[in-house]
Formats: sequence, C-alpha cells, structure tokens
Amino acid sequence: MLSIKDLSVSINGKTILDGFNLEVKAGEVHAIMGPNGTGKSTLASVIAGRDMFDVDRGEITYRGQNLFDMAPEIRAREGIFLGFQYPVEIPGVSMASFMRTAINEKRKHLGLEPMSGAEFLKLMEEKKKLVEIQSKLTNRSVNEGFSGGEKKKNEIFQMALLEPRLAILDETDSGLDIDALKVVANGVNKLRSPENATIIITHYQRLLDFIIPDYVHVLFDGRIVKSGDKSLALELESKGYEWVKKEANMAAAH
Ligand code: ADP
Ligand code: MG
Repeated sequence: MLSIKDLSVSINGKTILDGFNLEVKAGEVHAIMGPNGTGKSTLASVIAGRDMFDVDRGEITYRGQNLFDMAPEIRAREGIFLGFQYPVEIPGVSMASFMRTAINEKRKHLGLEPMSGAEFLKLMEEKKKLVEIQSKLTNRSVNEGFSGGEKKKNEIFQMALLEPRLAILDETDSGLDIDALKVVANGVNKLRSPENATIIITHYQRLLDFIIPDYVHVLFDGRIVKSGDKSLALELESKGYEWVKKEANMAAAH
C-alpha cells in the first residue's frame, strides 16, 4: 500500500524528517507516536501532498506508483485521506454539498457515474449511523462553529463517506472527551478492512485502548527509532519517551 524509503524533508532549510522508513500493507493499522515537534504532522502533510516542504531525499510509493508524481487531488481520488489535527472551517459551504462534490470527483476519476441526490442522501444516512454523528451537523457549513469534538467526529464521518484505501489520522484524538473518543475509535474500527490501511498519529496511547494497532512506531529526530506492537504504546504511557530517546542517542553514537 505505502512504502517510504529514506525520506528526508526540510522546511526553510531546517531538516524535519531524516532517513524515515515505513512500510504499510493493506489490512494494517499503524500507530505513529512521539514527542511534540518530531515531525508527525509533517509526515502526514507530505503524504497528502502539501507543498510547503522540500523533499531532499528518499522515495514514497503508493500502490506501486511514485507518490511524488501524483498531484494532491489525484492522491485523494486514488484513496488517500488525511484527517487533520486542526480541521479547517469552510463557511458558506454545507457539509452535504461539500461531501457530495468530493465523492463525485472521486467517482469521475474512477470512471463512475455521479451519485444522484437521492443516492447520496441514502449513503449519508447509512454513514451517519455507522459513525453515530448527529444529523444536524451535516446541514451546517463545514466545521463552522463546530466544537473540537464535533470537528473530529466530522473528520471520521468524512472518512466513512469517502471510504479511503489509506487513511491518515493526525491526532484525531486530541481534545476529545471519552465519549467522542469512543465515537472516533468506533468509526475507525468499523471502517477497518483487509483492503484498506490506517495510520494513526497520536501523542497519547489512550486512543489505542479502543483501536488496536498492528504496529506502534516511535518517531524521534525525524525517523522511527523504535517499533513494536500495542505493548510498546503501554510502555510509553507508563515510562514516557525519555528512555526511547536515550536508546536512540546511544545507537546513534555507535
Ligand atoms: P509534530 O506533529 O510531531 O508535533 P510537526 O511535524 O508539526 O511535529 O513539526 C515538526 C517540526 O517542524 C517542528 O519543529 C515545527 O516547528 C517545524 N515546522 C512545522 N511546520 C513548519 C512551518 N510551516 N514553518 C517552519 N517550521 C515548521
Ligand atoms: Mg502534529
């Protein structure tokens, strides 16, 4: 699904990702954890195609294609979804029309007929139930005046509608109370399938109580310095990141 090799990325001459490697296969859920400012959001932005970064070295292939040959909108149409750490508000554009446009752009790219209004409404109802989002949110402008929790739930709702192959959720759990956290986790779990993959970026392990990842990676100094399974997340929760940093520094010194 996704293969990242020796990726180095900088912004304004400052190196952020430095020799980053990651392999994600269909059906897998990967969690990327790490202290603030280590490049987690940068990674998500580079995969999604934001252009404020310089890729200095390395490669990313997505389903066998060079990702850097694909424009951001092509990446989205080919099934890459990014759930933002800070979702944007789009006043004046209703959720429903925004999502219908997004779905129909994707269908066009895949050579499918656009979805009719009735079909789209049916799909929305189905997905609303799936992610347990309140129906009134979809009549409002995209994220406008939504609470933090509503924005994050809305990201999951958008993900449910778009049915991505590769979903990247950047701190979708931050600022959520426990009920909203469960809604988000529940949505991710229900959308999990052997055909798609998810990368969950999170600072805390509590989301991983509800979404069990296949792999947990620690990002530090621009690269993954430690990988493990769910137990690594628990270890980080109890011991913090310092020991991983020390291990990484010792390895670098040798
Ligand atoms: P994380 O998501 O792990 O907290 P980020 O990827 O957001 O980390 O940031 C990694 C580093 O890149 C930080 O030091 C941050 O200040 C820097 N950075 C991110 N975006 C920009 C930007 N637009 N301009 C300058 N520095 C940036
Ligand atoms: Mg971040």
